[in-house]
Amino acid sequence: MLKPTIPENEMMRLQALKQYNVLDTLPEDAFDNIAKIASLICETPISLVTIIDNKRQFFKAKTGLQINETPKEIAFCAHAINKPDELMIVDDATKDNRFKDNPLVTGNPKIVFYAGMPLVTSDGFALGTLCVIDTQPKHLTNEQTTALKALAGQVLQLLELRKTNIELKKTQTKILEYSKEQATFAYIIAHELKEPLRMVTKFMKLLEQKYKDRLDAKAKQYIQFAFDGALRMTGLINDLLAYAKIDREHLKKEPVATSKLVLDILSIQKNIHGSNLTFEVGALPEIVGYPVLIKLLFQNIISNAIKYQPTLQKIIKIKIDCSEIPDKWQFIIQDNGIGISSDTQNKIFTPFKRLHSGEQYEGTGLGLAVCQKIVVKHGGSIWVESEVGVGSAFFFTITK
Ligand code: ADP
Repeated sequence: MLKPTIPENEMMRLQALKQYNVLDTLPEDAFDNIAKIASLICETPISLVTIIDNKRQFFKAKTGLQINETPKEIAFCAHAINKPDELMIVDDATKDNRFKDNPLVTGNPKIVFYAGMPLVTSDGFALGTLCVIDTQPKHLTNEQTTALKALAGQVLQLLELRKTNIELKKTQTKILEYSKEQATFAYIIAHELKEPLRMVTKFMKLLEQKYKDRLDAKAKQYIQFAFDGALRMTGLINDLLAYAKIDREHLKKEPVATSKLVLDILSIQKNIHGSNLTFEVGALPEIVGYPVLIKLLFQNIISNAIKYQPTLQKIIKIKIDCSEIPDKWQFIIQDNGIGISSDTQNKIFTPFKRLHSGEQYEGTGLGLAVCQKIVVKHGGSIWVESEVGVGSAFFFTITK
């Protein structure tokens, strides 16, 4: 028996193989089906997708064989991968010097015929083979060898897909970690800013009180500007803290009666706006979510619906409803406000994106970014349909 020679690039090949994370994985239909088809087309009782490791061959898919692996030194496929571009054919192993005393030939599964096509990556590394095996001498037709090569190409595509998925997951994890880091950073900054801001406000107040007889009108106006700025900054810090907190807090999902929650929010607004505010609320469901966040979500969208109204609007009209779509609740909050032009509708969910100046409409540009984070945390999405001068309808979904 001849042991397979070790490919020159073996270290690098094994390194490349690691990136596919395929060794010792459970059987998968996609691979099993290709092995079955290879067996049917080539009319052999056995077919395998083999992966050649350091000291063994692992069977990722197998038809007509029970074992999961064999030592590398008796593996036919370890010979096959040494000529990556060729289909290796052994017509009769019992008469072949390389294999006639191989335990896989003298004992079970009693290999006589073998044909194996290497699975070669775009970097030129042969990871294993797709092979067909028979227990009697055999000859493959041209069509059968063409089909076997094509099927080996399909196996390779599955392996490449697997590698791409692994890379994607790694990138996704990195992005998640990065965004958590960012949120933590934003949280710390916002927290740290609170104290100096409190100092500024406190000393401005002292200045105003203790020196009021000595300050002229201009100085008093400047102090007022400073107060306004400090107030705006407090709002910004609070919104930033709310935004950063969504990722930081370990909350528990609970049933949330959205009907009661919405009516509570609206009744507070009704106390402020009186008959200038009317609303229509449809049948709203009990959902499962993070109660504090769901409240913040409705509060932000409803307060925007009330805030973004034309100056001369007499009556603010808000409609809230919910419908069921597969696996999700879809809420809609509609207003008769100023509307949003179609080219800016997709930008408003970005942190700090505001379409209006602070003089026109107060705000920090974080409300809808908070909403988007909350919705994503509930497995849903958020979007807007709107027409300038007519009003806006905010839609969001929450996984059931
Ligand atoms: P903020 O209200 O603090 O500016 P948001 O993130 O809540 O921040 O909203 C982002 C921008 O989207 C707002 O500045 C406003 O221009 C626009 N917007 C949000 N809701 C509405 C609405 N109901 N009608 C019109 N424009 C809206």
